[in-house]
Amino acid sequence: MGPCRWTWSVSSRCVLRSLLARLQTAGALGLRKRLSTAPSSPLVCIVGSGPAGFYTAQHLLKHHKQVQVDIYEKLPVPFGLVRFGVAPDHPEVKNVINSFTQTASSNRCAFYGNITVGKDISVEELQQAYHAVVLSYGAEDNRQLGIPGENLPGVYSARAFVGWYNGLPENQNLEPDLSSETAVILGQGNVALDVARILLAPLDLLRKTDITASSLKAIAHSKVKQVWLIGRRGPLQVAFTIKELREMISLPGTKPLLHPSDFEGLGDVIKDLPRPRKRLTELMVKSALEKPSEKDSARWASATREWGLKFLSSPTEVLPCADGTRVAGIRLAINRLEGSGESAVAVPTGRFENLECGLILSSIGYKSLPIATSVPFDAKQGIIPNTMGRVHNVPGLYCSGWVKRGPTGVIITTMNDSFDTAQSVLDDLCSGRMDPSVPKLGFQSLRNTLQLRGVHPVSFSDWEKINASETAKGKEVGKPREKILDLEMMLRIQLKPARGVT
Ligand code: FAD
Ligand code: NAP
Repeated sequence: MGPCRWTWSVSSRCVLRSLLARLQTAGALGLRKRLSTAPSSPLVCIVGSGPAGFYTAQHLLKHHKQVQVDIYEKLPVPFGLVRFGVAPDHPEVKNVINSFTQTASSNRCAFYGNITVGKDISVEELQQAYHAVVLSYGAEDNRQLGIPGENLPGVYSARAFVGWYNGLPENQNLEPDLSSETAVILGQGNVALDVARILLAPLDLLRKTDITASSLKAIAHSKVKQVWLIGRRGPLQVAFTIKELREMISLPGTKPLLHPSDFEGLGDVIKDLPRPRKRLTELMVKSALEKPSEKDSARWASATREWGLKFLSSPTEVLPCADGTRVAGIRLAINRLEGSGESAVAVPTGRFENLECGLILSSIGYKSLPIATSVPFDAKQGIIPNTMGRVHNVPGLYCSGWVKRGPTGVIITTMNDSFDTAQSVLDDLCSGRMDPSVPKLGFQSLRNTLQLRGVHPVSFSDWEKINASETAKGKEVGKPREKILDLEMMLRIQLKPARGVT
């Protein structure tokens, strides 16, 4: 169904659907009453200002000329994983920030940063203040390995490590120990490749990015020379994608370690694979089995660091050093595959292998958390149960992004599912399932409550002051920005007049 514009010039299909739904739900008397009042602007609240939040807002604002959208964000700064997840050496990916900024500049859109929903304000309070609430708060935790030794010093989640180098305030005290030569990354997704690349990339390359100054300093002293990425299944089941693998293969100063035996025999299967998987496998097979070009040979011969893929290996135990104080290795169960293709299952063979290492990064996926007891949550899948973004059994409550479909998918995938959710909101307005004539006051009705609770919201123009300060500091050292790492400092800058910001 096309977008519904809640004006008196709505399409006849929309009017018909709206009338029918209202007749069914409210009865003729209620209908007459509502139609005699001009409809007020629907007020929509979005929780989270990552891609899901902004794309949901964008679609709503574009396709409905009266809707007002308020975006609530826990941090004083917007953009979620675009700021705190996307690798610093991928600046082009962050260009989406331009379109998010355009969305935020609409006079029908407001940003309220520094408000944690579920703590500073409840979901129920938002539901009372708005006609619709969209939960787009992403995945702020990570999956656990569930093996002995997981919490030993020297073992980190990739999520925390990524947050550390990208300036996420909560991860600034991580102090990852980079003093050993061998690092193991568990998992073979794109986050694993990001982390491997940041560990091994030449400093000159990183220096020009918005990686934090403190993590750059730590990486400059890093002793890590060899990185293994461990997959529990085989080469045909890796979760990373071709562009990211190609980048890793051509990373200056490094050499790939791909065991020919892992790839022999794949030639026969490749031709029947779906195209993206086919091209990805061809690249691995070529790199492992074919004679390298002269350029690659020369690069590999002079490489000082190396990385490799290890397959059919499940982590079973983190091995401690002799005095038990930190990690010394990982015990891996050797698997075989049952079934084929994407759905092949890893089955233990009963054999094991120990791999020595002083650093382990667990990159087996992010995880969403429940936000309130009143909001349904499927703990097994780590999502809010929904149909097309409509939260099950809670009218007026919606979800989009990773909390809607789980912690996979790139920004474009998130964009599409957020558009779907926004369309569900519009359809519900159009059909009369949601009634914008019910008086709601939005942020106005929550301002005092927040003030009484000592919460100081940060507006989008406040963020622009923080942004100006970061970019000015970055410019001094030839970086796109030098991120502010401390919440207090962010709030202090936001309080200064824009021109005085340094
Ligand atoms: P998020 O981006 O996580 O946004 C959620 C927002 O909600 C955050 O701002 C958070 O602070 C806020 N929030 C959380 N809890 C609350 C609360 N209680 N109250 C208020 N606000 C709250 N995709 C690409 O296309 N290219 C890439 O290069 C790329 N790199 C990635 C690198 C990493 C390390 C990761 C993890 C993902 C990457 N992705 C990339 C995927 C992309 O980041 C996701 O598809 C996308 O960010 C998901 O959007 P989201 O809005 O659902 O979640
Ligand atoms: P992911 O793509 O789901 O990869 C997770 C990896 O962990 C898989 O190899 C998975 O193997 C493995 N794994 C899961 N549970 C495990 C366990 N218990 N033991 C051992 N291994 C386990 O997740 P991600 O790498 O966190 O990425 C999240 C999303 O962000 C993805 O969609 C990714 O494409 C996107 N992203 C994109 C970019 C980019 O575009 N450059 C960069 C970063 C992230 P199995 O397959 O066997 O489960």
